[in-house]
Amino acid sequence: MEEEKMYDFHYAALPIDVYFGLGKSAHVRNILIKNGYRRVLVITTPGQEEAGQDLSNKLDDIAIGVYPYAVMHVPAEVANKAVEFVKFNDVDCCIALGGGSTIGLAKIIALKTHLPIVAIPTTYAGSEMTSIYGMTDNHLKTTGKDIHVLPKIVVYDPELNLTLPAQISACSGMNAMAHAIEALYAKEKNPIISLMAIESIKALKSALPIIVGDLTNISARARATYGAWLAGICLGSVGMAIHHKICHTLGGTFNLEHAQAHAITLAYSVHYNRNADIEAMDRLAEALGVDNREKVGLAIYRLNEALGIKMALKDLGLPKEGPAAVARIVCDSPYYNPREYNYKEIRDLLEKAYKGLPPI
Ligand code: NAD
Repeated sequence: MEEEKMYDFHYAALPIDVYFGLGKSAHVRNILIKNGYRRVLVITTPGQEEAGQDLSNKLDDIAIGVYPYAVMHVPAEVANKAVEFVKFNDVDCCIALGGGSTIGLAKIIALKTHLPIVAIPTTYAGSEMTSIYGMTDNHLKTTGKDIHVLPKIVVYDPELNLTLPAQISACSGMNAMAHAIEALYAKEKNPIISLMAIESIKALKSALPIIVGDLTNISARARATYGAWLAGICLGSVGMAIHHKICHTLGGTFNLEHAQAHAITLAYSVHYNRNADIEAMDRLAEALGVDNREKVGLAIYRLNEALGIKMALKDLGLPKEGPAAVARIVCDSPYYNPREYNYKEIRDLLEKAYKGLPPI
């Protein structure tokens, strides 16, 4: 019976053109020309403006310049200004060079203008593979799904990750792992996504410790990018569970750094769900290299420790009343999770994460 259930699913692949390989970003101009784009805007954060300028120079006559104003969680005023800029300058394609914040800004532009996005990801967050967008207005982050925000083309070049600092690499990699893990026990889980999820978890688990010890290890960078790509497909293909809802609230309401919040909380969410989907959790245990599902949360906690990630939500600036406030918001709008939850359980989970105690 269990096996019959496994072979009963719906899977829809998202239409994205993916180029993957060392040095691939050098071919972006050809790719853009092949697709007919002639007035391209390069979007970055302020920190990546120089990298954006380099890319813009390489694009030569088809680039109109760099727009270096992306910030985390896409504040509405930042998005509105960018949309005006794009319209005024007659842009025909936005290139998002950066992480989830940059791609997030390009997505809101695409949502409002229907302009195509070419994403060149430089973190492991995975936004480039999804049609999910988010924007923050008045301390409330809202998200939605729209096919217009799905990048048309994604160019993965692991060389671009070489400048990503150790802590951002580690947390961003664990953010990717969170997508893959929640895909394993998703409501719409299916065999192909579960395969990708397991492959992603193994790639990230083996690559991240090497990267934090040697940021320039190009093989480990390539493996982490590969794991992040697969995790992005997982995120874009099936719904997530309570872990994503909690992190979304930690970011939107308390402005906690997205990837760090994911990395810390993942150990507790996974421990909470350890017996909710036995098939998924047994596979996860195997991928994480532990002998049973009772230890999956602890395995993630230990991996975070080994990666030098901050271990407690209080260290990210969550106030003392944060766990209760987040639990309230999470329980106010029900979200799918393989195990039922209530206010007290989510608050207890977050209290542990707040203090950074081992999940067991
Ligand atoms: P980020 O994009 O904010 O990047 C973190 C920092 O790293 C930034 O300061 C950036 O300038 C810098 N950086 C990025 N790449 C670099 C590189 N190669 N070298 C040096 N510095 C670099 O962080 P993120 O974690 O990638 O994205 C977080 C945001 O993405 C959140 O708002 C989150 O909600 C969103 N997100 C959305 C989706 C989706 O599907 N819509 C998925 C994942 C994340």
